[in-house]
Amino acid sequence: MKIKAPWTDEQVAALNRWQAYGFVHEFTCPNDHKMSVPLEATKRSWVCPACGYTQDWAHDFMFEEHSNPLETAFAANAAKQRARQRPANYDQLSPQEQWQIDKALGILDWK
Ligand SMILES: [Zn+2]
Repeated sequence: MKIKAPWTDEQVAALNRWQAYGFVHEFTCPNDHKMSVPLEATKRSWVCPACGYTQDWAHDFMFEEHSNPLETAFAANAAKQRARQRPANYDQLSPQEQWQIDKALGILDWK
């Protein structure tokens, strides 16, 4: 779904966060520049800092916060590695004891 400008300060911040992620393709200026120029969000529209091109809509998902899928996979894998450090009797322990071990190993969020 496309969301048209004007946007609030929060929406502008979200759009510029999207532009800075690095793991998604950001909006760039369609005009002929030597290098691709990322658009900058303002309340009234996107603006190309090089030529002044404007665009007055954004995709709805660009306003949401996204976690880097590569970082997420990396963290899940690291947790799996750390899980190998659990004691041999881990499965016989109480949930509280298991929780304490997982907390110490830093794998609580990535089971
Ligand atoms: Zn431009």
